[in-house]
Amino acid sequence: MSITLEDYGIMEALGKLGVREINNGTSTGSDWFGEGDLIDSVSPVDKQLIGKVHQTTREDYEKVMEKATDAFKQWRVMPAPQRGEIVRQFGERLRTYKEPLGKLVSYEMGKSLQEGYGEVQEMIDICDFAVGLSRQLHGFTMHSERPGHRMYEQYHPLGVVGIISAFNFPVAVWAWNTALAWVCGDVCVWKPSEKTPLTAVACQHLIAEVLKENNLPEGISCLINGDYKVGEWMTNDKRVPLVSATGSIRMGKIVAQTVAARLGKSLLELGGNNAIIVTPDADIKMTVIGAVFGAVGTCGQRCTSTRRLIVHEDVYDQVKEALTDAYKQLRIGNPLDQNNHVGPLIDTDAVKNYLHAIAKVQEHGGKLLVEGGVLEGEGYESGCYVKPAIAEAENHWDIVQEETFAPILYLMKYSGDLENAIALQNGVVQGLSSAIMTTNLREAERFLSHAGSDCGIANVNIGTSGAEIGGAFGGEKETGGGRESGSDAWKVYMRRQTNTINYTTELPLAQGIKFDL
Ligand code: NAD
Repeated sequence: MSITLEDYGIMEALGKLGVREINNGTSTGSDWFGEGDLIDSVSPVDKQLIGKVHQTTREDYEKVMEKATDAFKQWRVMPAPQRGEIVRQFGERLRTYKEPLGKLVSYEMGKSLQEGYGEVQEMIDICDFAVGLSRQLHGFTMHSERPGHRMYEQYHPLGVVGIISAFNFPVAVWAWNTALAWVCGDVCVWKPSEKTPLTAVACQHLIAEVLKENNLPEGISCLINGDYKVGEWMTNDKRVPLVSATGSIRMGKIVAQTVAARLGKSLLELGGNNAIIVTPDADIKMTVIGAVFGAVGTCGQRCTSTRRLIVHEDVYDQVKEALTDAYKQLRIGNPLDQNNHVGPLIDTDAVKNYLHAIAKVQEHGGKLLVEGGVLEGEGYESGCYVKPAIAEAENHWDIVQEETFAPILYLMKYSGDLENAIALQNGVVQGLSSAIMTTNLREAERFLSHAGSDCGIANVNIGTSGAEIGGAFGGEKETGGGRESGSDAWKVYMRRQTNTINYTTELPLAQGIKFDL
């Protein structure tokens, strides 16, 4: 039975966020325009149409780029702490709207309400981080080899930053990029996933209010909507020096080549194939909680979801039993109902991919320890609810090597030394997140050493998902090599300049070269 929009306060949330039935999808701030075709925003929770958003036309896009390029001229000369003040105000706005925005994220994308609120909290956290950063953005000072010379590095803004985001983190990934880019002095043009256009419209309303209240020009924060073709306008556009793209490896390879062909910069955050290694010294209770949350949280649709569990033969049967028992407790259903652990997949295409992966495992002769399947009947009418599955599998199988964006956990055994487990873990093309469960210090340190995990994220006694914004986030190999969020990820959004100043009356050359006139 589908829920009414009044249930769970969704209508109220839509009202508070100002996302009406039909929304403009193109904006340069408070200016909204365009009459392009409509994209339907349909909830995977119950297949209800939540709203419609106008796609951006080529003409609209040109208008956006003009406004953004103009705004950059003003924004880049505003002192960084003043730009930080705007980000601070945006963070405050997000605090006020956390509840309705989190609810819309949950309903439009299908993640649990807690995860929807968590996503907005991540936006707030990155705003706080960026505010502090706005008083730093520091370079190095070096000693010159020439007397009476001073040498240092400084960072300048890049210009228009294009942000292409995926459906599974419909708002947080934009904030990770944009909060940093803004304090760095860049202006942003965001193309959200065509599967989650309404949350993007809601975010744009919130930032537009802040920009208007501060009398800032149109163009600092822009929104464009549509499918990959709209994304391609940005990747091909020389006016966009940096494209930050989050999504599948397939998409990332195309974006990387397109942007590189014009010698632009890209920041790529692509798919993962994340594993937890469970050693004989693991705390099994913690392991099970970490693995289950990692595998079924967001219905297996996190880039950091746990896809592979590599378990030592000495504890394999114990882990297998504990896991299968834990899966029996899972409640699958409406993610707005906080009693449920697992919500729907994003759409029926994702369900097909899930079924395809299970069929492939069976073709390979893999044993399903927890059978999957699509749920039918009351509450499951959208056709997007599936049962989280566990399969015994081998790492080299094609299907295990791929990222299937669904709750399927591959269980595999290792024997002998930890090196064997690390080899399995690293034996995939992706390199996003990894974890080891062990109480043995030596094992933990070996896992984190140069010869250990080859991923961008390596955790000890924590699952693979659930990153904090303080650290740089991203992965190696086909995950794309990009870093976003904390630490010094801000440097990607700026261009570096080395300055040497001569305060003498002589002109000595570097390397002692003589050039006398
Ligand atoms: P997707 O690749 O289908 O789409 C992502 C975005 O790219 C969308 O906005 C889409 O319109 C756009 N796009 C697609 N092709 C394009 C092209 N040729 N040119 C320009 N834009 C293009 O991915 P999805 O299904 O929305 O998201 C799931 C994927 O994202 C998974 O692989 C997941 O691991 C990955 N992801 C990675 C991270 C990370 O930080 N590493 C975070 C979230 C999601």
